[in-house]
Amino acid sequence: MRGKPRAVSEESVIKMDEATRPLTFNNYDYEEERILITPRGPDPVLLGIRGESPSIVLKAFRMLEVGEPIERWVIFRTNQGTDAHLAHRLVRELKPHMPAIIRGYVSSPPTMIHGGHVIFRLSDGSGEVDCAAYWPSGRLAKVASLLWPGDLVEVAGGVKLGPGGRLTLNVEKLRIIKLARKAIAMNPHCPACGKRMKSMGANKGFRCPKCGFRDPGARKVLVEVPREVKPGLYLPPPRSQRHLTKPLRRYGLEKYGCPGPPKGEWFWPRPPTLA
Ligand SMILES: [Zn+2]
Repeated sequence: MRGKPRAVSEESVIKMDEATRPLTFNNYDYEEERILITPRGPDPVLLGIRGESPSIVLKAFRMLEVGEPIERWVIFRTNQGTDAHLAHRLVRELKPHMPAIIRGYVSSPPTMIHGGHVIFRLSDGSGEVDCAAYWPSGRLAKVASLLWPGDLVEVAGGVKLGPGGRLTLNVEKLRIIKLARKAIAMNPHCPACGKRMKSMGANKGFRCPKCGFRDPGARKVLVEVPREVKPGLYLPPPRSQRHLTKPLRRYGLEKYGCPGPPKGEWFWPRPPTLA
């Protein structure tokens, strides 16, 4: 079956996901209606299920309808879905290829570049770095586009060298800790009739289009606008998550220390010497 599409029933993957959540994760992408446990390329692997314990991944595996011969299976203990690659860093410590978590303040309004990617600057007192949320990250890029200077955030991801030798942090995770108040400069209202006035040119004041009132000394006024984003943790959809990224479903299920040798079945078939 190598090089052919995997014969794993989509319906059974969804049923398995529903029956075993949150103890298994990244089985299925509900947005794109796509199986995530099977390899996409010409891979000799049938499938891989990620979960919290040997018993739950075996139970999940046995719920699947697989229309091709299964030669063998084994349960691995891995660091997938643990954020093991991420550590808190200061901006001034960043180097290309370094994964990092940076806590700091958004220091520029986000801009959208070609392809729908969102870039904003982050400052932590030790330096400033460009942060990029890429379009395939879906909601994450949308949320990043709604950030505003002064927002306190934690951004996690890998660092790469951008154009002009600038370091860019590819946003894999965004935690909004505290939102700043957002005010934008707007034309003042007319004191005579209440209509919003129009500019008469740079530093030439404003005039009212309705009643004709002019004020050469008037300035723009700051108006507070509501924020369209809430504090919280934002991740890309499972299909765009890296293997090591801890998915939302795993928060609160973290395990520490060494669990010792596995109990129960963890591979099949048993080699003759162990039979
Ligand atoms: Zn007026």
